[in-house]
Amino acid sequence: MENALSVIPLGGVEEIGLNMTVLEFGNDIIVIDAGLMFPEEDTLGVDFIIPDFSYLMNNREKVRAIVLTHGHEDHTGALPFLLKELAVPVYGTPLTLGLVKEKLREHNLEDSELVPVMPRDVVHIGAFSVEFVRVTHSIVDGVGLGIETPGGLIVHTGDFKLDPTPVDGQLMDFHKFTEYGEKGTLLLMSDSTNAEKGGFTFSEKEVRRAFEDIFSKTSGRIIIATFASNIHRIQQAIDVAVKFGRKVILCGKSIVSNAQIALSLGYLRIPGETWLKLEDLKKLEDNKVVIITTGSQGEPMSVLSRIATDEHKHIKIKDGDTVILSAKMIPGNERSIGKIINHLFRRGANVIYEKVSEVHVSGHASKEELKLMLNLIRPKYFMPVHGEYRHLVYHSILARKQDIPKENIFILKNGDVLEIRDGEARRNGSVNSGRMFIDGKGVGDVEEMVLRDRLRLAHDGIVLILLAIEKLSGSIVSGPEVISRGFVFEDASQEIISSVKDLLSNTIKGLDKELLSDSSLLKAKLRSTLKKYLRDKMDRRPMIMPIIIEV
Ligand SMILES: [Zn+2]
Ligand SMILES: [Zn+2]
Repeated sequence: MENALSVIPLGGVEEIGLNMTVLEFGNDIIVIDAGLMFPEEDTLGVDFIIPDFSYLMNNREKVRAIVLTHGHEDHTGALPFLLKELAVPVYGTPLTLGLVKEKLREHNLEDSELVPVMPRDVVHIGAFSVEFVRVTHSIVDGVGLGIETPGGLIVHTGDFKLDPTPVDGQLMDFHKFTEYGEKGTLLLMSDSTNAEKGGFTFSEKEVRRAFEDIFSKTSGRIIIATFASNIHRIQQAIDVAVKFGRKVILCGKSIVSNAQIALSLGYLRIPGETWLKLEDLKKLEDNKVVIITTGSQGEPMSVLSRIATDEHKHIKIKDGDTVILSAKMIPGNERSIGKIINHLFRRGANVIYEKVSEVHVSGHASKEELKLMLNLIRPKYFMPVHGEYRHLVYHSILARKQDIPKENIFILKNGDVLEIRDGEARRNGSVNSGRMFIDGKGVGDVEEMVLRDRLRLAHDGIVLILLAIEKLSGSIVSGPEVISRGFVFEDASQEIISSVKDLLSNTIKGLDKELLSDSSLLKAKLRSTLKKYLRDKMDRRPMIMPIIIEV
């Protein structure tokens, strides 16, 4: 592949998530982003998924750096796993690196070389010169990339939308993108997430209007659930809270940690005495409270889910409370989110969400914005990225309308190689690609996961919890029965099994009907209760499988 430039997506062109793209020329490789994806509801035992980066491992002596566009986990989540194998420098803007640093610490990778860059900085990495260009998106400090290569200029938009009134006042750098268009761009890679949506994406400021409207009509407590990384959204919630004389309580580990990072780097502004502790909640009058938390996707163990099912120690829903789900309902999560909303209504809260109010706007460009980007850059070749196949197809239709010929548009699959030689691009085979499944901090492919399950079974055995529940009333028909294999010696087992049974019976007794009628929440609850018990009492970690039969 001498004198040829290769562009290889290892993830992100068959899904939304797993973003990772390789640029290779001669002996130099740079990697754009290293993201993860969360699994569908039923992928047992898998916490998240990262791209198979064995191609990089097989070319480890060539890999010069990882360049990050922004701090979302679908762009940074695979980083700890990659850095464990390849200790290369990581370039990113200050907030991106701030969020990354926290993750790396959890993986004992605090010695990694993190190189902060500012928009319009240019860094030379091997055969490449990478320029960082400010974009607007649902996280602060996002950038696109203008990359000079020996084969020509490559522009990567990162995740973006054209927000004319961003919360932090940092506008998208249209001038730079225009300059790339003037200069002549060989290849444009652009965000396809919203390529199905017509018109323009609303500005983040619209959410403030919706918040103000809700706040002005509400005299009870307000609880806002959003993504922990959406610093703009948190800022707007805080600003509106201050305007209406309310105090703010941040609830949940990730949201507190992200807010602290953003605060220390100057990306979040909280006036003195606005941010109070959870313990202060009972001292405050209802009309003086805003609680900001996570769990907008209905995740069973999140703060919001625990609040909704009355499992939260400090926050109990009561009449007059208003809960705002200020986030997109990610496809696949609608069912769990719907359940949470029902639980909240049942407890007396008023619930406001995307479908009924403008409490969320997307962070990604819609059709008109994508067209504008194509017009500014006018690339010779176009590669839609960041999307499922249908998003890439819609994006390529837009490109054809902007007079990019069909043969110059490349919809790639993960691992496909786009080779550019003497200014001409063509597909040239593919490299190893795929998905790796992460359970806790371990990594493995599907086979390894099966092996790990077997190992766990071999070490600590399995405990099954059987429970039959009447679906409508939530009352227990039979159980809990506990069956174990390979977990304890026969002699001791009766005693342990009966103590486990007692524990579970008591747990179930303490739950209300509502939670009992929601088998996914109930399973999560039983599993976590038993897991903790066995770990604390016996230092054992068997596989725990609750089986709930609804009759
Ligand atoms: Zn993003
Ligand atoms: Zn993304």
